[in-house]
Amino acid sequence: MDDCLFCKIIKGDIPSARVFENDDVFAFRDINPQAPVHILIVPKKHVANVLEGADAGIMDGVMRAAAQIAREQGLAENGFRLITNCGRDGAQSVNHLHFHLLGGRQLSETMA
Ligand code: 5GP
Ligand code: ZN
Repeated sequence: MDDCLFCKIIKGDIPSARVFENDDVFAFRDINPQAPVHILIVPKKHVANVLEGADAGIMDGVMRAAAQIAREQGLAENGFRLITNCGRDGAQSVNHLHFHLLGGRQLSETMA
């Protein structure tokens, strides 16, 4: 996807603060953090969102990466939140599947 922001970040065409990378997954700090730790975890394969073919392999890789990053960022003891937005009502602004890892403070009890 030539015009996809996160594909460009994964390729390194747009700089990012990378925190994790393996063959299938890339993770970097959100440019507009909403918590002390706010990391975006994305599959390298372009998938628009969870409605569009996030197969078991992709999801497994993303979840494993999320757990590893959470531990490495010191979030295992107090916990964290892992969110994916989808479509208009979900307020998804970048159409490349991504999960927000949020932590480092007590988060709101409301989800929406
Ligand atoms: P969404 O709203 O689609 O769930 O999340 C997109 C996220 O990408 C937002 O939290 C936004 O701050 C972040 N973002 C948008 N553009 C950039 C960018 O160029 N670099 C980084 N690191 N994050 C970005
Ligand atoms: Zn993409």
